[in-house]
Amino acid sequence: MPLVYMFQQDNDGKHTDQINKDWLIWNISQQLRTPPHSPDLNLIEHWLEILKKTGWRVGIALAFYAQGCGLVVEVDNRIPECQFGFRKGRSTLHAISYLIEQIENTLRHPGKKYHVVFVDYCKAFDLINRETLIRKLSNMIGESHALTTIIADILSCNYIQISDEITLSNKIIQTNGVLQGDPISPVLFNIMTTDITKITEDTTASMIMYADDMAIGSSNIEELQQVLNKLVRWAEENSLQINHQKTKQMNFRNGGKQRKKDTLTLQNEPLEVVQKFKYLGVTLQTTLKSYRIHIQERAAAAIKAMYNIKNLQQLETKMAMTLFRSAIAPIATYGLNIIWGNLTVSDMGKIERVNSSFMKRVLGVGRTTLSRLTYELMKERFFIEDIRTQLCMPNTPAYEKALEVLRGKKNAIWSEFYITDAMTTRDWANTNYELRHIVTRYAVHGFHHKICTTKRYHEPNDECVCELCQKPCGRYHVENCRESKTSLTNFCKD
Ligand SMILES: [Zn+2]
Ligand SMILES: [Zn+2]
Repeated sequence: MPLVYMFQQDNDGKHTDQINKDWLIWNISQQLRTPPHSPDLNLIEHWLEILKKTGWRVGIALAFYAQGCGLVVEVDNRIPECQFGFRKGRSTLHAISYLIEQIENTLRHPGKKYHVVFVDYCKAFDLINRETLIRKLSNMIGESHALTTIIADILSCNYIQISDEITLSNKIIQTNGVLQGDPISPVLFNIMTTDITKITEDTTASMIMYADDMAIGSSNIEELQQVLNKLVRWAEENSLQINHQKTKQMNFRNGGKQRKKDTLTLQNEPLEVVQKFKYLGVTLQTTLKSYRIHIQERAAAAIKAMYNIKNLQQLETKMAMTLFRSAIAPIATYGLNIIWGNLTVSDMGKIERVNSSFMKRVLGVGRTTLSRLTYELMKERFFIEDIRTQLCMPNTPAYEKALEVLRGKKNAIWSEFYITDAMTTRDWANTNYELRHIVTRYAVHGFHHKICTTKRYHEPNDECVCELCQKPCGRYHVENCRESKTSLTNFCKD
């Protein structure tokens, strides 16, 4: 039963750089798009996507899909608790919060440390030994079980061919690994690693897996070393390779210096001890209480995603905010519900800025515009308020403080702002309103800097003098100046 596969890969940097993208466009037309920022890839959805696109061998594929589901039902209760990957009701965030909980519980005791090894496997899915896999599956559900027979059948005969719709490559026979992009592959991987939990038996070490992403932690470094030694043996027995270079160690502690004897080894080679590590999308720092780096990374990723959306200024403002909530907010807030209690006022400020930057682009005002004005113009509440409601998070001192600062700034807005056209009319908020940026820019700075004799950046004050009429000029003098001959549109141009 030979199958021709579509090409799919994740959004890893090395897959998405321009050279690769260009090559793929020209060489492989049968590509499946992987959604951006999707740690929970649902392979079944993609399988259906293939069907919709091609309608090819629908019967076989559907049977295959049903088997995948059947298999999940059959084996799910036999997969160990520490495996979070591709299981009902469990996500990457569950895995991370489980790890964080372990660390926090240890660090509550003064002077205690918690050591974690983040294990990286080389091409785990490709190297799986099929015979071992079938043996483990037989042990689990029985050798004569229909699913065992079918899966053994599928894995005993498959080859891949790459098609560019004109030519087909030579057949490449696969004898190792589970099938790429197949809905049952993650389940098969979970079956393969079911017995891995035995390496932590009778120790204080705990293990967390999300598919092939694995973390093992303990407050007892000697025990953790023993577990690592067992892991090496387990990997050998199962023909999996641990990537030493990418396997990292982190020592979580309440303070104090890193000690040399806290370094673990893998096959007698010391592991690299790192101060931060991105685990399933959340960057952990050794002090644990700090998520500064994670927040910075999420904010930067959200702002980058924002710049990929063109013509924001042409969108109706409410529509733009709907877009923000569905496409940008999830990137900025990933992981926040599990670290909310540790966020600082400064972290909250960074998250809030993602929203104000977005609104500035919708409004067509400059990046240095006072953020507080954007909330009034857009008639929006603060992003952190939204997040707290959406994620059902409690009030924290940092949250209260951050909100107080934001509200204080909003209350300090000058009163004339509220009688500008932008605030008294809403036409400019509609779709494709060509002059939106003129109305909004007038409201936020009045083009004061264009006519004031003081040329450096400043807030308008009593000493400001108009260079056209030589009279005192306030923020919104441009529209009242008798000598001003040009229109606001012209002011806006340069
Ligand atoms: Zn001035
Ligand atoms: Zn004037």
